[in-house]
Amino acid sequence: MKLPTHKTKIVCTIGPASRSEAVLERLILQGMNVARLNFAHGTLQGHKEDIRRIRTVAAKIQRHCMIMADLPGPKIRIGKLRSEPIAFEKGDQVVLTTRDILGTSNHIPVDYGRLSESVSPGSRIFLNDGFIQLEVERISGDEVFCRTLISGPLLSYKGLSLPGVRIFADAVSDSDLEYVDFALREGIDALGVSFAETADDIIKVREFAEKRKKPVYVVAKIEREEAVRDFDGILAEADAVMIARGDLGVQIPLEEVPVVQKKLIHKANLLGRPVITATQMLVSMTENIRPTRAEVSDVANAILDGTDALMLSEETAIGRYPVEAVEMMAKIAASAERERGAIRALSDLPAYFKAHRTPSSITTQDIVSMNAVEAARALKVRYILTRTKRRGGPRLISRFKPDCWILSFGGDKKANQSLTLSCGVYPVCMENNINHLSVDQLIKFMDDSGLLERDERVILVECESRNKMNGTDSLKIIQIGKGSRRS
Ligand code: PGA
Ligand code: MN
Repeated sequence: MKLPTHKTKIVCTIGPASRSEAVLERLILQGMNVARLNFAHGTLQGHKEDIRRIRTVAAKIQRHCMIMADLPGPKIRIGKLRSEPIAFEKGDQVVLTTRDILGTSNHIPVDYGRLSESVSPGSRIFLNDGFIQLEVERISGDEVFCRTLISGPLLSYKGLSLPGVRIFADAVSDSDLEYVDFALREGIDALGVSFAETADDIIKVREFAEKRKKPVYVVAKIEREEAVRDFDGILAEADAVMIARGDLGVQIPLEEVPVVQKKLIHKANLLGRPVITATQMLVSMTENIRPTRAEVSDVANAILDGTDALMLSEETAIGRYPVEAVEMMAKIAASAERERGAIRALSDLPAYFKAHRTPSSITTQDIVSMNAVEAARALKVRYILTRTKRRGGPRLISRFKPDCWILSFGGDKKANQSLTLSCGVYPVCMENNINHLSVDQLIKFMDDSGLLERDERVILVECESRNKMNGTDSLKIIQIGKGSRRS
C-alpha cells in the first residue's frame, strides 16, 4: 500500500471535460477523493451514467472515490438568449422579465417568478457572479427595469444574485427533494445543500433520507449571508461544510470573503467537521496549463487556514487541463503541508519573540516595541507616537502590526521616505528639531491637526537616555487632557 504525498483532500466537479473513464481514472490517480456531480446542470440519465463510470473506474484501480451530489437549491438563473453572448454598455437600460421569452439585449428572462416582489428601486442585481451589475430603477408588473452599472458579455442560463434581498424560495424545495430521492436510490455518498439558510435546511434533507432508511452525509454549502450568521447552528447539524466562495462573494462584500473563510474554517476545525474551500482555486487552469501565482498562494493559504479539502469546479468540469489541475493542487498541498507547523509558529510574532529571544539576544527596543503594541491593544489607543532620529523605532513597532496608527514625528524628509513601505506608519514631517519639542507641543500639534478626541490616551515611544544610539528605550502612556478639542 502506498499513501499519497499530500493529505489535503481534493473534490473535483465532473463535467464534459472529465466524465470519460480515461480522464476519471487519471483524476483519481492524481488525487481526486470526491467526485462532485452538479445537479444544477445535466439530466438524471446523465448523472446515472456518471455515477456508473466513477464506480467502475474506482473499482478497476481499487481506489476509493466519494460521490457527492450537489443539489441546485434556489439558484436563480436567466433563461435562454436568442443569440449570445449579448453585451450591454454601462448606462444601458435592461428589462428583466419573469415571462418565458427568448432573451435579447434589452429583455432578459429570469426563472424566478417573484423577482418583482423581492427587489425594489435601488436594489442591486448581479449577473454571472457579479461580472455584470444592474440597479433597479422601477418595477412594472412582472417586469423589472434596470440600469447597467457594470457591463460585460452575458450567456444563457447564467446565475442571478440578489444580495441582501429576501428570496421567496426554500433552500431545499420539492424539486431538490426529488433529486435527493434519486441520489439515495443511486447510493450516492454525500449531498451538497446549496444556499442553506439555517440548520433547518440540513435537518430537512436528513429527515427525508432517514424516512427512506438511508442515512446520508450532508455537506452544507455556505454561500449566503444568513448561513454565515447561523453558521454555528448549521455546523451542529451538518456532517461537513463548504465555503462556496462563488456565490458567497456576491452575497456578502467580496473583500470580506478571505476573513470569513478563516473564521468559518476555524469554527469547523473546533468541532472536527471537515470543511471544503471552493471556487476559483485554480480557475485560470480552465484555459492555461499553469496557474497564476495568486491562485497557487490561495490554495496554499486555504491549507494553512486549516481547510480539509479543496474543490475544483470549471477547472475539471469544462477545463482544458483537468488532470493537470488536480496534479498541481496535490503538489501545492504537499508543499504547504510540509511547512504547516513552521508557518503556524511564525504567524504570532510576539509569541515567537517570547519563545526564541534570550535575555542576551533580545534588545531594549524589542521589549519597548512589543510592549507598546500590547499596551495599545489593551487600552485600544488610536495612536502610537514615535520620536526618534533613527527610523528603526517605528519599523520595530510596525512589525507587530498593531491595530492603531504609528505616527512617526521627524524633521528629516529622507528618513520619512524610508518609512513609506512600513505598514501602519504615518510619517509626520515637522520643521523644528523634534527632540526639542516637548510632549505637550506634540500633543498640541496633533490636537490642532484634528486627530485627537477628548479624554483619549496615546502611547509615546522614544529614546530618553542620553546615549541616543541605543534607540527607543521608553514607553509612556499619555492621557489627553480634558481641554483638548476636536477641530
Ligand atoms: P456552485 O457552488 O459552484 O454550485 O455555485 C460553489 C460556489 O458557489 O462557490
Ligand atoms: Mn454556489
